[in-house]
Parts: sequence; structure tokens; C-alpha cells
Amino acid sequence: MRQEQLLNYIVQLEEKLSMMDKDLNEVKHAVVDLIEENITLQKQLEHYQNVHGEPHDTSYKDNTLQNLYDEGFHVCSTLFASPRNGEACIFCGEFIN
Ligand SMILES: [Zn+2]
Repeated sequence: MRQEQLLNYIVQLEEKLSMMDKDLNEVKHAVVDLIEENITLQKQLEHYQNVHGEPHDTSYKDNTLQNLYDEGFHVCSTLFASPRNGEACIFCGEFIN
């Protein structure tokens, strides 16, 4: 009886391992797809930058930094993302302007 239980347990473990192997393969394929997509996007970006040059519009960065500063955080390199505690920071100002 005990040997039969042990055998059943081993069969169950085999099934679980088989399922995990299947899941792992699916994740592996998903990662490979993402890597391929990333390479394609990098090539497209390089091509775009070769044709059009580096992006000149950096206003989105300024807005993001300004928003972060307005929310009460430093955007300067030394204290980046730490709370300003309501104090103005001249270094942050240089980054935003
Ligand atoms: Zn600062």
C-alpha cells in the first residue's frame, strides 16, 4: 500500500514537472519574441535617426521633470527623486530650464 502511494506520488510529480516544463517553454518563447521585437525596434529607431537625425523635440522631458518638481521632488542629479520638503532648489532649476 505504501509503495503504491509512493508510485502515485511520483506519477503526480512527473505530471507537475511536465506542466512546468511546458510553462517554462512558453515563457522562453515569449522572451525570445520580446528580444526579437526589441532588436527590430532598435533597428527601426537607428534607421529613423539616420534619416531624420536625433530628435530635437525634448519638451516631453522638460514637462516630465517639471511635473516631478511640482510634485515636490528633486530633479537635479545629486538628489534626484528625493523629496524637496517644500524647499526650492537652484540645481533643479538648471535642469528644468
Ligand atoms: Zn534639486
